[in-house]
Amino acid sequence: MTFDPYSAHPDRYSGKMLYRRVGRSGLLLPAISLGLWHNFGGMDSLENSRAMLRTAFDIGITHFDLANNYGPPPGSAEETFGLLMDQDWRRYRDELIISTKAGYRMQPGPYGEFGSRKYLIASLDQSLKRMRIPYVDIFYSHCFDPNTPLEETMGALDFAVRSGRALYVGISSYDAEHTRKAAEILQLFGTPCLIHQPSYSMFNRFIEQGTQDAIAEKGLGTIAFSPLAQGLLTDKYLNGIPNQSRAAKARGGFRSSSITQEKLEKVLKLSEIAKSREQTLAQMALAWVLRGERVTSALIGASSPNQVIENAETVKNLNFTKEELDKIEEVLR
Ligand code: NDP
Repeated sequence: MTFDPYSAHPDRYSGKMLYRRVGRSGLLLPAISLGLWHNFGGMDSLENSRAMLRTAFDIGITHFDLANNYGPPPGSAEETFGLLMDQDWRRYRDELIISTKAGYRMQPGPYGEFGSRKYLIASLDQSLKRMRIPYVDIFYSHCFDPNTPLEETMGALDFAVRSGRALYVGISSYDAEHTRKAAEILQLFGTPCLIHQPSYSMFNRFIEQGTQDAIAEKGLGTIAFSPLAQGLLTDKYLNGIPNQSRAAKARGGFRSSSITQEKLEKVLKLSEIAKSREQTLAQMALAWVLRGERVTSALIGASSPNQVIENAETVKNLNFTKEELDKIEEVLR
C-alpha cells in the first residue's frame, strides 16, 4: 500500500496548543489529547486513522491514548498504531506521549482481565509488540480490581517502570478511597502515580464527589475521558441521529437510547450559551472540563480530522465568566 511520507508541520509548537503540568510531575501534557478507542480499529479506514493522528500532531497534540482492548477487534487499535509508528511516527517518538492500559477482558481464561501481576505484565508486553515500540510513556491499571490486593496491582505498575516497559504509571476509573490507597502504595515503591483517567463531562460529574479531592491531595494529574459524552455534547444529535455517528453504529457502548429528549433539551440550551461565547458546543464542553485547571487534559475521541481541529481550537478560549458558569449550572441541574 502506498502513502505520502509524513513530515510534521514546522509550526506545530507555535502556540496552537497549550501544555499543562501533570500534577506534581515534570511532565507536560497538551490540554487536548487524542484517544484511539473508536475509529482506529481493524474495521476502520486506515487512511482516516492516519489523517487524524497527523492532523493532531501538526497542531500540537502530543499525546495519544490507547488500551490493550481498543478496536474492534480488541488489540487492533494498537496494531494500527504500530503500523503507523513504522510509517509516520518513529522519527517523532521522543515528541510523543503514548499510553496504554490493561484491566478489562483481553483474552480468554483466568489471566485475561483485572489486576493481577500475571495479566498486567503479559498484557503490556503484548501491547508493546502490537505498537512496535520498546516502552510506553504511561501504563495504566484500567480499572480497580476488588479481588486482587492493591499492592499486587501497584507492584506490577512499579515493575513496568523498573523493567523499562513504561516511564510513568496511572490509574483509571478508581474511586476516591482507592485513588488514595493506590497513590500511597506507589509512593512507598518509589514510583509515584502520575495521573488518574476518569470519565468527566458536563453529563458525568461523579469525580466532583470526592475523587477530584483525592487526586489533588495526592498530587496526581487528571486526564478526563469522554469529555463530550461520546458526542452527545455537540450539535450533531439535535436533528436526529446521523448515519455515520457513533450512536448509529451497532458497535461500541453508546446507544441511541441514551439520547433522551431531556438530554437534547439541555444540549440545545448549552448550545445557545456556547454561541454567545463564539464557540461550538464541543469547544465549550471541553473548555468547561478544563476550567479551573483541576483537569490537566481533555481526552477526546474523533471520527475525522476536522473534529480534531475544531476541538483543539478550544484552547483559544478557556475562560468563563461567573455568569456563564451559573447559566451552565442551571441547565445541568
Ligand atoms: P468524546 O466524548 O470526545 O467522544 C468522541 C466522539 O464524539 C467522536 O468519536 C465523535 O463521534 C464525536 N465528536 C468529537 N468531536 C466532535 C465534534 N467537534 N463535533 C461533533 N462530534 C464530535 O470521547 P470518547 O468517548 O471517544 O473517549 C475519548 C478517549 O478516552 C478514548 O479514545 C480513550 O482513549 C479514552 N477512554 C478511556 C476510558 C477508560 O476506561 N479509561 C473509557 C472510554 C474512553 P462520531 O463518531 O459520532 O463522529
